[in-house]
Amino acid sequence: MSTFDNILSRVREVQKLENLDEAAFNLLTTPKRISRAELEVDGQKYQAWRILSNEALGPGKGGIRFHPEVSEDEVKSLAFWMSLKNSLAGLPYGGGKGGVKFDPKTTDAATIEKISREFIRKFYKVLGQDIDIPAPDVYTNAKIMGYMLDEYEKAVGHHEPGMITGKPLELGGSVLRGDATARGGYIVIKNLVEKLLAGRKDLKVAVQGFGNAGLFIAKMLAFDGFAVVAVSDSQGGIYNEKGLNIEELIKVKEASGRVDAYADAAKITNEAILELPVDILVLAALENQITEKNAGRVAAPYIVELANGPVTYDADKILFAHGTQVVPDILANSGGVIVSYFEWCQNRTGDILDNNYLSDLLMKKMQASFTAVFEKYLEHDRKIDLRTAAYIIAINRILAAEKFRGNL
Ligand code: NAD
Repeated sequence: MSTFDNILSRVREVQKLENLDEAAFNLLTTPKRISRAELEVDGQKYQAWRILSNEALGPGKGGIRFHPEVSEDEVKSLAFWMSLKNSLAGLPYGGGKGGVKFDPKTTDAATIEKISREFIRKFYKVLGQDIDIPAPDVYTNAKIMGYMLDEYEKAVGHHEPGMITGKPLELGGSVLRGDATARGGYIVIKNLVEKLLAGRKDLKVAVQGFGNAGLFIAKMLAFDGFAVVAVSDSQGGIYNEKGLNIEELIKVKEASGRVDAYADAAKITNEAILELPVDILVLAALENQITEKNAGRVAAPYIVELANGPVTYDADKILFAHGTQVVPDILANSGGVIVSYFEWCQNRTGDILDNNYLSDLLMKKMQASFTAVFEKYLEHDRKIDLRTAAYIIAINRILAAEKFRGNL
């Protein structure tokens, strides 16, 4: 099954549960706009996409990924998840996503800048603060957002900082954006521990992925007394059942570019980290990590998806049958886009919003989403998983907006 086929299967399930007709199914799963381009930089050609999944609730919103394996199916899936994530978080956005197929790790900084600028020259007409608003995703960052904003403003001839979020502070970024996704994930984990683990303090956690999402969540959990016993990045993982010194590990990662250069732990593979005997497994790398092939070997009773789509549809069924709870991506990693929304509001009004105010607002929004999903799950007598509960809420909000627009 392709990643998007996984999505179709999940939406079919919601269709049955909520008695949705075929028109509603098609409206949800057919992207509003697929923009494709070939970016030409120094004689090299790079495939690129910007896809708008749905815009019933507002302009598109979602990141741009630079990765050697980006495909149209992947960008379409990520855009769809953004529609649901934004809806679940109660944001006035539809869903969008972009991607460029190349390996930024083996590409020099000057070329990455040129690719970023060329992306905007090709797509600026389908972007804008009221059209579709990008942000960082895998292997893109605030610096790249800065180049993109600059190129956009050159193309349209006016300032418009709200056309992109995750910018450097100096260009109108938010004080919270750097670790927002992890912060949201941390709030979710605290809620989970309170509701399902009776507030236990002695919990072991493994984190797959050590980038923007994974590094910060490992840091926050370790600071709060969780034992972060394993982490991994694209080159491999490490495990010490007594817990890792995350501050030390961050220094090692910064110096060597890899987590397995950390001395006080055993090396493990990226497959093995998913099967460790921990209480919570945090997935913070890429999609399709837990599939029907390895789901039966997952030992953790709780999985938190900071990455988008790391558990496949078939794996969900196996995990549910085993009693494993998965906190779905559209809830667990929504902190990033919620803070992007704060940034966008700030850019539009010219206000400056301070750290305490925003942290409090983020906490309230994440808690409200968690509670809504949990209540929907209870409403169904725990016979559906948390993902289905989250999808039901998100999909119904989008469809209600479509109805009021007269599209259904
Ligand atoms: P990033 O580029 O900062 O980091 C990605 C990390 O994943 C790196 O440590 C990389 O080494 C690691 N990785 C890649 N392939 C791996 C593999 N096979 N096994 C283990 N590790 C691997 O990206 P990020 O922003 O942290 O994004 C990670 C995930 O979180 C993605 O699915 C992304 O869509 C999602 N996400 C990110 C944000 C955000 O604000 N950054 C928001 C929502 C969701």
